[in-house]
Amino acid sequence: MYGGTYVNTCNRCNRPLKDSASVKRGYGPKCWKKVQLEDEEQRKIYEPCTIAYAGLANHTMREIRKRVLQGDRTECRACGEPLETGEIQSYDHDGGLDLKGFGQPQWVYHQCSKCKHQLSIWKLRIDLSDLEKLKPSKSLKMVEAV
Ligand SMILES: [Zn+2]
Ligand SMILES: [Zn+2]
Repeated sequence: MYGGTYVNTCNRCNRPLKDSASVKRGYGPKCWKKVQLEDEEQRKIYEPCTIAYAGLANHTMREIRKRVLQGDRTECRACGEPLETGEIQSYDHDGGLDLKGFGQPQWVYHQCSKCKHQLSIWKLRIDLSDLEKLKPSKSLKMVEAV
């Protein structure tokens, strides 16, 4: 092996890396910041919610949908479209519910298929307690399992 095959240069701008911390992560300090920002942007676009177990998360969302449709309210308050045609959606939110299958607390809402009116799940007063995690500290092991 020639010494030159393993050069410690930045993965982004190709300039030599000057300290061991930079070498370890593969980016210089400035590029590292940019890379992290880009990562965050990507996550916002493609992954508004952090899913730990896709199957379990899907199950949770299906259950919520079922309960919403069984609830007192059957149509969109804004346009009258049946709630049935809309979708249950969620995104990471500190004040949300710590739902099974998700890596972060979720803000859950129903979105009308016609007028896009968003109805927070809290306003529907349905019981979701059995869909919440008992111990949120398990999230580290979940990442491994996936
Ligand atoms: Zn760089
Ligand atoms: Zn509507």
